[in-house]
Amino acid sequence: AKAKGRNTFHFYSQELDAAANERLFIENELRIALKAKQFKLHYQPQVNSQTLEVIGYEALIRWYHPEKGYIPPDKFIHIAEATGMIVELGEWVIEEACRFSMQLQTLGQAGNMSINLSARQFKDDRLISTLSDVLERTQMPPHLLHLELTESMLMGDVEAAITQLHEIKKLGVALSIDDFGTGYSSLSYLKRFPVDMLKVDRSFVQDIPEDQNDMEITAAIIAMAQKLKLQVVAEGVETQEQMEFLQKNNCFIVQGYFYSPPIKASEVHSFYQSLQHQ
Ligand code: C2E
Ligand code: CA
Ligand code: CA
Ligand code: CA
Repeated sequence: AKAKGRNTFHFYSQELDAAANERLFIENELRIALKAKQFKLHYQPQVNSQTLEVIGYEALIRWYHPEKGYIPPDKFIHIAEATGMIVELGEWVIEEACRFSMQLQTLGQAGNMSINLSARQFKDDRLISTLSDVLERTQMPPHLLHLELTESMLMGDVEAAITQLHEIKKLGVALSIDDFGTGYSSLSYLKRFPVDMLKVDRSFVQDIPEDQNDMEITAAIIAMAQKLKLQVVAEGVETQEQMEFLQKNNCFIVQGYFYSPPIKASEVHSFYQSLQHQ
């Protein structure tokens, strides 16, 4: 038993080493990656399922490491957040997405551009000046820029969050609550947050039509959003059945593999045109 215990310990400590090493590796490589231009943005269309209009895109970061290949955001965003590097990385994301959005507008394809903000970025004092600088430099119309925040980012210091949200709204930028339903925001607070849009989390959508509870929760979120006069987007829509369920419940804006995965900038134009011809 003793020997086994020792082996088990050895096994765990190796696993911990591997995790710590990976973390250290990512931390170091992140510092290089921005300068070496290893990041790209992909864009996932948000489609009005009734009119087949593209109402906008969500920008999603992609990291292509020269040796490790593709490293997904779930593997590095939290590390960038913990080290504070997210602020610089996030600025790059905002600027890059606005520049691309301006190119689309030149092609007559104006739409929203949604960007994910991390908690650290949202709380950072420089956020407002960064946003106004980028809007100025790129000439991006502020109302087309949507910032996605999660409930947990808003629920810590609620008063500070509300103040910051109002500062962002003063710039004319729109606000969405991402992954809605998975956090702890109470309805009484939701009314006080000056937000424009809710995104129903993928976890509720993915088991439609098998999971009766998820269908009820989804329908309730949509109804509540409408009562609060918020736009609502369903995330992670993969099937025709899910899309039709959402339509029946008055949610017409959908995002998910059913219409398109996140795509490269160079693919956005042809996606847009293919929808026009459907
Ligand atoms: P998120 O904001 O909830 O983004 C949606 C995620 O769901 C994306 O994963 C997207 O590729 C994936 N997805 C979209 N449609 C479907 C679908 O129909 N089925 C399934 N199974 N998945 C779908 P991705 O790109 O790996 O991003 C993961 C998370 O990383 C994002 O979740 C977001 O929280 C974070 N993230 C991505 N880009 C950025 C960024 O630029 N800044 C920050 N702070 N976070 C980012
Ligand atoms: Ca998002
Ligand atoms: Ca989401
Ligand atoms: Ca998420």
